[in-house]
Amino acid sequence: MSRILLCEDDHLIGTMVRLNLQQDGYEVDWRKTGEAAVEALGGARFDVILLDIGLPGISGIDVARTVRRQGVGTPILMLTARDDTESKVQALDSGADDYLSKPFDMAELLARVRAQIRRSQGSLEIASNAELRMGGARVDSERRALQTDDGVWHDLSDKELVLLQFLAKNPGRALSRADILEEVWGMDASPTERTVDNFIVRLRRWVEADPENPCHIVTVRGWGYRYEP
Ligand code: CA
Repeated sequence: MSRILLCEDDHLIGTMVRLNLQQDGYEVDWRKTGEAAVEALGGARFDVILLDIGLPGISGIDVARTVRRQGVGTPILMLTARDDTESKVQALDSGADDYLSKPFDMAELLARVRAQIRRSQGSLEIASNAELRMGGARVDSERRALQTDDGVWHDLSDKELVLLQFLAKNPGRALSRADILEEVWGMDASPTERTVDNFIVRLRRWVEADPENPCHIVTVRGWGYRYEP
């Protein structure tokens, strides 16, 4: 289970964010001051830090600087009060990986948290140029092509390659169609969830011995797909 450190002094926002994160299956440690957040980071490992800029005592900017100086590499998503360029620049300069301006949409916050977790896990698991094996197929990212078990090479489109890499980085994890759309098509994607299904059908023809009964790219009913190595 992924652990999130939430540092937010506003009771209402903190309560809402914590509730939504918990509903998505995250374990949340909620601290209300910057000092308490720094203290929490000394004692435990987190997957993402959600950090409000405006805090009593030391600010979110100071917290980010402090923890980066201490060598903590955990992704930081900064919550900025205003949509002004200066606080965004400050947030990124202080060591934050991303920011979100208040008032924010809860679905967007959750999506950005997922993106940070994927990015940090993905970079640990496989280098982007590594050769992947998926079922009966060999994916060569450098060549942007895939070789099926009959030895035939197939060129991959950008989206097909990103989708294969995304699945491979998340073995055993149920990925929602929305997660896949975000990762492969971007946040403001116009394609529908049906697009994801069509791409999966195509990938299965290459990866699966029996595409009608897939055992590597399996359907998670009412949700999305899961990659089983
Ligand atoms: Ca605040």
